[in-house]
Amino acid sequence: MKNGFTTTILHSDLESPIEHFAVHKPMHPSVAFGYPESRDLAKVFKGELSGYAYGRQGNPTTAALEVKVNKMEEGVSTVCFSSGMAAIAATFAALLRAGDHVVSSSFLFGNTNSLFGTFNTFDCDVSFVDATDVENVARAIRPNTRLVFVETIANPRTQVADLARIGELCAKEGILYVVDNTMTSPYLFRPKNTQASLVINSLTKYIGGHGNALGGAVTDTGLFDWTRFPNIYDNYKKAAPTLWGSTQIRKKGLRDLGSTLSAEHAHRLAIGAETLALRMERSSDNALQLARFLASHPKVAKVYYPGLEDHPQHQLARELFKTSGALMSIELKDGIDCFDFLDRLRLVISSSHLGDNRTLAIPVAHTIYWEMGAERRAEMGIADSLIRLSIGIEDFTDLRGDFEQALAGSGGA
Ligand code: PLP
Repeated sequence: MKNGFTTTILHSDLESPIEHFAVHKPMHPSVAFGYPESRDLAKVFKGELSGYAYGRQGNPTTAALEVKVNKMEEGVSTVCFSSGMAAIAATFAALLRAGDHVVSSSFLFGNTNSLFGTFNTFDCDVSFVDATDVENVARAIRPNTRLVFVETIANPRTQVADLARIGELCAKEGILYVVDNTMTSPYLFRPKNTQASLVINSLTKYIGGHGNALGGAVTDTGLFDWTRFPNIYDNYKKAAPTLWGSTQIRKKGLRDLGSTLSAEHAHRLAIGAETLALRMERSSDNALQLARFLASHPKVAKVYYPGLEDHPQHQLARELFKTSGALMSIELKDGIDCFDFLDRLRLVISSSHLGDNRTLAIPVAHTIYWEMGAERRAEMGIADSLIRLSIGIEDFTDLRGDFEQALAGSGGA
């Protein structure tokens, strides 16, 4: 990146001329692309001419967003999908085969955990380990381990993976290293700096930021040697080896599974991305102040936020990330009903989303982590009373006032 983060994203559309001197790439909802020379259509299909074949495999608006995300992650190639889960599922489906083994952090977003359960039934064995210590990852590796998967800051308990040391381990072993950067976003952390091979972002969250579009992306950082990966089909070995993985993800993951990002949502996400840095600074600042306020409140039993000195990976988070992010979880003192507390909040919205401009709260064990059952929740350290807070960009005094009044009204100590 030659210019700064925000300058680069703001001006990326203008790297090639746009009709009518527009400053945004236009929205192209067309599903079909008609070629005056039918031989050119055949060339596009064969990869001999660059162009669009059919809307399921991409459109010019999504391509412009892929360029932006690729720049943010300093990748060699980015493929966008209809959601973050679609990006994760397509990556796994495109790259894994029966008999393969995966090592994953046990601290995961609930739907990713559920997806890994599905892959287990396809004879792809997933081992879950505490990825805050590289030694646990190293112990779990087998001869058939194809990839290691971690989240940067885990949703919802905010454990920080031992990202740099896991990167060194994967590089030494020649194993694909996949990092879900959703919680940090490429503004706070660039996984490529810790040798990640593929970076996943749910664009729905901080990158879009406004809660008005779903999307996901997979970026190949260019660091992995795909010639060492046994699952690439011969068809996708025609381009330079750095592009083998992303070509297979685009063909087997996007084209065949069909979870395509629409042009309209790509456009909304691209507009959101322009202010990612500004929003992350503001929401992280709010989160740190709020975490300190809540940690000293007599009705709050526990605050999980990497920016607090007593967080087990506080030092690691300081070394790795620009700020500690905008997501935290809290447990209230015994005797305070979490639903009663949530209902007393006036500004903060009870919602399952995160990474929005507005502050959102959710009782995780009773909602997004309900389906996985009590045993798995206990393994992941998710208490029944845990409330996840996604901090937004409101004025801090208003936020603090809302928590103050809701806690004052709640029963208990
Ligand atoms: N990864 C993480 C860490 C998430 O928290 C989420 C959603 O909350 C996802 C992936 C999935 O993103 P999406 O909702 O866009 O499918």
